[in-house]
Amino acid sequence: MKITFWGAVRTVTGSMHEVQVNGRRFLLDCGLYQGRRKDANERNRSFPFSPKSVDAVVLSHAHIDHSGNLPSLVKQGFEGPIYATPPTADLCDAMLRDSAYLQEKDAAYLNKRHHRRKALDPALEDGPVEPLYTIEDAERALKQFRQVPMYTPTRLDDLLSYESYNAGHMLGSTAVLLHYHENGKRIRLAFSGDVGRPKQAIVRDPDPLEKVDYLIMETTYGDRLHKELDAVSAKLAEIVNRTAARGGKIIVPSFAVGRTQQLVLLLHELMNARKITRIPVFVDSPLAVDATKIFQRHSECFDEETRQYLLEGEDPFGFQTLRYIRDASESKTLNDLHGPFMVISASGMCEAGRILHHLKNNIEDPRNTVLITGFQAENTLGRKIVDKMPEVPIFGEPLRLRAEVAKLNELSGHADQRELLLWLKPMVAGLRKVFLVHGEPAQTAAFAKAAQQQYGIETVMPERGQSFELG
Ligand SMILES: [Zn+2]
Repeated sequence: MKITFWGAVRTVTGSMHEVQVNGRRFLLDCGLYQGRRKDANERNRSFPFSPKSVDAVVLSHAHIDHSGNLPSLVKQGFEGPIYATPPTADLCDAMLRDSAYLQEKDAAYLNKRHHRRKALDPALEDGPVEPLYTIEDAERALKQFRQVPMYTPTRLDDLLSYESYNAGHMLGSTAVLLHYHENGKRIRLAFSGDVGRPKQAIVRDPDPLEKVDYLIMETTYGDRLHKELDAVSAKLAEIVNRTAARGGKIIVPSFAVGRTQQLVLLLHELMNARKITRIPVFVDSPLAVDATKIFQRHSECFDEETRQYLLEGEDPFGFQTLRYIRDASESKTLNDLHGPFMVISASGMCEAGRILHHLKNNIEDPRNTVLITGFQAENTLGRKIVDKMPEVPIFGEPLRLRAEVAKLNELSGHADQRELLLWLKPMVAGLRKVFLVHGEPAQTAAFAKAAQQQYGIETVMPERGQSFELG
């Protein structure tokens, strides 16, 4: 059994690990690499193996950095099954189409810009840009999904099978346990996927895994400790009440899948407990609307608290003053509406989408609040806002940032260092090696040190393209 690391090594995107067994090739995840345009383009377009030669993919969860390059794999000849849990498959249906739409739009924009430049300088070369993949490619990939519920042993080859466990990170998210057996020899290789936080809203806590020989483990927050979830709820209430009292609007850039539903549930809780003023709340993103419907269909994944809503005949993702907006023209009517109200919209890092219009219309008014709910990567508009730059560019226009900027970083779906160590604990006895992935180098190194100190286990931080023979 041989494993090779191709993505999410010493970084947090492009998750993709190769497992070779019995002359056959399998992938754990096939995620989109996100970074500088040129690097991302090269990385996502060229696979280090022939996609035709891949026998099957096992997908840990729907997030785009884990699933988002599947359409490229299919476009380049992969014909095998993509195994995923039913909620993951349903979410990918919405997310891969959305991702393809963005790829097409991005290529169209670049081609238009090139066309204009070429008109001024006919010597310019570089032909038109092809989208990384199209909606058609995404639809082909979706046909190759095979839905397998958690805990269901599934054969990949005569010598290899797997089953998946709840990772507690988002709806349908899993850790994958591979079993290799040949002539009485057995190897158990686990892949953590992304590990969730215990007590996180909506999904159940991560399952403990046991009796594992080798482990591939994420370390996104390998060096951090999150705040308690109760503190998050109190902080959200304060922000809402403060802004509402001055008649302001709360503009919330949020990831459409996972983060938005978590926020809605938190607001629902606060409204029921009468801890916040009953202001109108709008979820203004077609992808978020689709994703929320998928969440509603998969109540089998809910934790006790979320299930309780159903038992009481309530929709966890709906309350009296909440409205979901799909239609662009309805979205525009929010421009003329007076505060106080809240609008939750995508994209999460303010790079595209309807959130840009809401920011443009509201960022210069000191009565308003921009509520940042997640990590903002360097060079994004979200980062400029969170860094409170006095002036921020929106649609090429410099605008004065006079609205309040508030942060709610604790909604992360990733376990922190203490929670990762806790998840690792039941596996420690018998564990021969842990491969640490899905983290910036400093985070991964800090986690390696903590795991060695606490459990005395051998950790490895693989390089991209590095292979290991597992015996
Ligand atoms: Zn994830």
